[in-house]
Amino acid sequence: MIAHWQALAAREVPVTPQCAPGSLRTALPSAAPEQPESLGEMLADTWKFVVPGLTHWQHPAFLGYFPTNNSPASVLAEFVTAGLGVQGMMWSTSPAATELEQVVTDWLAQALGLPEAFRHSSGRGGGVIQDSASSAVLVATAAALHRASQGRWRAAGTEGRYRMYCTERAHSSVFKGCRIAGLGEPQLIATLPGTGRMDPDALGARIDSDRKDGFVPALVVATVGTTDTCAVDPVPDIGRRCRQEDVWLHVDAAYAGSAALCPEYRHLHDGIDLADSYAVNAHKWMRTGTPCDVLWTSDSAALTDAMSIAPAYLRNAATDSGRVVDFRDWQVPLGRPMRALKLWYVMRAHGVQGLREAIRHDIGLADRLARLITAEPGFHLEVHELGLVIFRRDTDEDTRDLISRLQTDPTLLCTPATVGGRPAVRAAFGSPYADADTVRYVWERIRTHAQDPEQLSAC
Ligand code: PLP
Repeated sequence: MIAHWQALAAREVPVTPQCAPGSLRTALPSAAPEQPESLGEMLADTWKFVVPGLTHWQHPAFLGYFPTNNSPASVLAEFVTAGLGVQGMMWSTSPAATELEQVVTDWLAQALGLPEAFRHSSGRGGGVIQDSASSAVLVATAAALHRASQGRWRAAGTEGRYRMYCTERAHSSVFKGCRIAGLGEPQLIATLPGTGRMDPDALGARIDSDRKDGFVPALVVATVGTTDTCAVDPVPDIGRRCRQEDVWLHVDAAYAGSAALCPEYRHLHDGIDLADSYAVNAHKWMRTGTPCDVLWTSDSAALTDAMSIAPAYLRNAATDSGRVVDFRDWQVPLGRPMRALKLWYVMRAHGVQGLREAIRHDIGLADRLARLITAEPGFHLEVHELGLVIFRRDTDEDTRDLISRLQTDPTLLCTPATVGGRPAVRAAFGSPYADADTVRYVWERIRTHAQDPEQLSAC
């Protein structure tokens, strides 16, 4: 693994694979072997067949989507977790797995400056590690429905009565969660002109009119760091409105939330004390391998009342005592691995200070790229937020042309975006191996693709 990471760091391998659809499927046998094979053969085949067909998300020139970064401590923890192989669905099935999760989610809540009520130590709320921000919003939706219906939803279903609110900039997982929860499509709230941020007055007006029409407003999802442009909804205003209306507020800070580890970005959490639940993906920007989303709530009773089901085969004295947390009631699946070891190792191996430095480093790289773009005639910087930079060329045609050229270049990965209705190129930093030289390299490639593409086709 270390040799692989070194090869990535040195950019000796491309970011994206150059393989046709079906190439791995045709290279491998169509049935499993009858006789056992050696682990050595499997490892060799992994590098021979599988690795060349991968997009390397840890590669320094991987600038697509949002990052999914990692670290040796996280990898070691995954190895140990797999080796121990425990199932932590309830306190009684592995007490230390549950309590470690309570400890590390409290640690992280503290490091992120989340309110006291989000910690297990408060006795009211607490954190739970989910596989994804998608699961987090679905679980928050169940809790919100439970509260809005005073428990009636469990038996009666949604009856077409309950409503969820977000902007069109919310992540697709919010729309999916809404649908899966039986609410259909969310109610889309207008954004403040030119900002991509939810208009709290429009939210208030919509809630009022929905109530008049007989609907029950159940949940607002605000985003801190939208996937398209890293826009931040005005959580304090939204939160106040939600409190007045007794509507659950879930804050999706999947990407940007990690930046709040740094005091200079802590303002991203303004108003979080008014939220009922909050989620950040440690697997995006906290050097913790995927999956590792952390969901906190200040009202864990709403969550567990919504989710718990207690058949005889799950009954046990610890649960009956009411003195333990059973994380099976905080998530959709029943079973769960020991999820906390990874975060525990990462937080200890880096220290909170180390995680802050990593965030600042990545933001510093984005700053460098933004400066280069700004200084270059024919390029326009559209967005520069945290580790995200979005830019375009003078004309949409030139931008589209650049996008398609970049898509054929396996040595770096940027993803397309639309800003203000115009096509743009999106670059998000977060690889643990990216440095100033990466920025120089990436920028030279982008500039050459835009201005002198023949030079690259000749290589
Ligand atoms: N929310 C935001 C703002 C995101 O950017 C993303 C993914 O990029 C998600 C939610 C979904 O995350 P997950 O893949 O963990 O479900």
